Parts: sequence; structure tokens; C-alpha cells
Amino acid sequence: MSIANSILKLKEFLPKEVTLVAVSKTKPNSDIMEAYNAGQRVFGENKVQELTQKYEELPKDIAWHFIGHLQSNKVKYIAPFVSLLHGVDSLKLLKTIDKEARKNHRVIPCLLQFHIALESTKFGFSMDEMEDIMRGGSIAELKNVNICGVMGMATYTDDQTQIAKEFEELSNIFNRLKNTYFKEQGNFKEISIGMSNDYAIAIEKGSTMIRVGSSIFGERNY
Ligand SMILES: *Cc1c(COP(=O)(O)O)cnc(C)c1O
Repeated sequence: MSIANSILKLKEFLPKEVTLVAVSKTKPNSDIMEAYNAGQRVFGENKVQELTQKYEELPKDIAWHFIGHLQSNKVKYIAPFVSLLHGVDSLKLLKTIDKEARKNHRVIPCLLQFHIALESTKFGFSMDEMEDIMRGGSIAELKNVNICGVMGMATYTDDQTQIAKEFEELSNIFNRLKNTYFKEQGNFKEISIGMSNDYAIAIEKGSTMIRVGSSIFGERNY
């Protein structure tokens, strides 16, 4: 199927309130433009250098989401333009984002990444860590970050029950944070879960944002 057709089919399937992040990592600008010309405006990248290059070369009304693991020393390169940071996984990183956002006179939207998978290689907070941070109160001082919700990646497995369980865990984390610490913040509303192989399960479990790459652009060659 063409890129444009894949986008249109996905959009037909998705509930209106679910945002499609087209994950264009490793793919050429021509592929992104095909999606763009089919109406897609939200794209996700996971490498800072690749993202900044694509940002410079492609239309300025694209909303670029950073979906990868972000190192504190690289925040400055994307702080001027990034629309949403999905993978915020430490207080140190959040503080750096706040500082770089302030330099750019911006408030940068962020999602807190939680570790929900069985693999120990996937990044993210545990709920215990988050409770400590929240009780510490330092997040409230960060005026240039806008914490909009949570993000997670399920275990890489064919076991749909396991994936559903992990997504449900993240939904529960979201609800707990919402009800305990973000009650007054209308911005705290996003649950970023679901990729090419599991977005249907993710939507059942409350996803508001799916990150889909290979189902749109085809397999990646690294
Ligand atoms: C690559 C990537 C995706 C997209 O994966 P596909 O299986 O190609 O849809 C989604 N989220 C993150 C964090 C990724 O790194």
C-alpha cells in the first residue's frame, strides 16, 4: 500500500480524539512529503540530529514529536521547535528541558515515560520513583515545561494479553497521577501508547496518541 493510502486507512480506523504520530525515523524527506500531502502534520523522530535536519528541510507547519531517549546535553538542539517530547524519563532531564525552554521563551509540552515492559532495556520511571518526585515538589517549580501526560512501550511480544496488561497498567498510572497531582491541569490528558503492531490494543486501553512507523512507511533498514 502507498504511504498516502496507509495514512488514510489508519485515519479511518482511528477514533477522532486519537492523534496519529507518523514515525518517520530513518525515512527520507520524500516519504514524509508523501504523508504530508495526504494531510499528515504530526511526525515522530528518535534521533536529535536527524530531527533537526528534517525540521530545517521540511515545511514549517509540521509538528515534530521527539519519541526517543533524549540525552540532557542534546536538549538544546531541539528546544527551539519541538512540539512534544514523549520520552522524559528523569527529573534531571525535565530540569534541563525547563532551562532550555526558558532560554527559547517557550513552554515545552512533555510526556512522562513509564517503564511498563518486561525487558529491562526500555527506559522509563517506575510509579515509586514518580511518587517520590511528586512528593518532593520540585516539578511544580518548572514553569517552562508543560506535563501533558504519560508514554509507554509494551514488551516486544506476540502475546496480546501481556501487551494489554501493560497498557492497562499505564492507564492506571495515568489515572492515579491525574487524580492525585494533576487534577487542576486540563493539559494533563495524553496517554501515548500503541505502535504498528499493537495500536488497536492500545486504543482499547485508552490511548490518545499512537506512534506508528512501519505500518505507514514500510519496514526500516538500519
Ligand atoms: C520506532 C518507534 C515507534 C514506531 O514503531 P513501528 O513499530 O514502526 O510502528 C514508536 N515508538 C517509538 C518510541 C519508537 O522508537
